[in-house]
Amino acid sequence: MSDDLATELAELGADLRAVVECWSEAGLDALPAASPEARSPPMSASPAPERKRMRAADPPAQKEPPPPPFQPTPGAPDFGNLPSGEAGLARVREVMGDCQRCGLCQGRRSLVFGVGDPEADLLICGEGPGEREDREGVPFVGPAGQMLDRMLENVLGLAREQVYILNVVKCRPPGNRTPLPEEIAACAPFLEAQIQAIQPKIILSLGRPATQTLLKTGRGIKAMRGQWQRLGDLPVMPTFHPAYLLRQARDKRLTFEDLKAVRQRYDELGGRR
Ligand code: URA
Repeated sequence: MSDDLATELAELGADLRAVVECWSEAGLDALPAASPEARSPPMSASPAPERKRMRAADPPAQKEPPPPPFQPTPGAPDFGNLPSGEAGLARVREVMGDCQRCGLCQGRRSLVFGVGDPEADLLICGEGPGEREDREGVPFVGPAGQMLDRMLENVLGLAREQVYILNVVKCRPPGNRTPLPEEIAACAPFLEAQIQAIQPKIILSLGRPATQTLLKTGRGIKAMRGQWQRLGDLPVMPTFHPAYLLRQARDKRLTFEDLKAVRQRYDELGGRR
């Protein structure tokens, strides 16, 4: 078997495994019988169709809107000439200090800054720490985090160490409520500086607050998910938040489609594996 064919088969196997895992996560344990026309034709000597043409279910290419200008929040703290990667993140963390810039500091046990590869090609942005994240000081370690890990591993083929995971607000909102606009505004300069330091190739934004904050828009997540957006030059894919998917399992299929689009774009942009 040629190396190309072996690679192609391995990729198809990974795709198939991800689809089956997504279906089984969504509670589907059997498929309806295929119609006779849909069944595979008998093997013949004619050449196999190219893989691109076999993917009849690929969504049509989407036209991307023109990029809005990327501007730092007015009145942001001075990060100086921010270096990239680990040094840049360390600078941002140092400027945050024992942050008291909004009321969320009052109930926090930890300031949950972010975790992962400081030079990751994929940045994942959630909303804010929950109870367990507040306790452990690490984003996405509770039930939503376990779902995120499965999404990463099964569909994107990436471990959490290979990406960078952060939240819009770094301190837990009481009772896990949605962060208030003033809390988001107080944290926004740090989020922007983190993005500037990491320099990812793609952002995956989880849920409405993350997407609205990153894109400075009031549009809802159902209208935006699955459609490439831009933050300056940076492609942003909005999708549902894993905590929402834990309540609405039937929307996992849509998130699976969004993640497939991310994986394709990640490969096209030379994202590291
Ligand atoms: N939900 C989020 O948005 N972020 C976390 O870190 C955990 C749950």
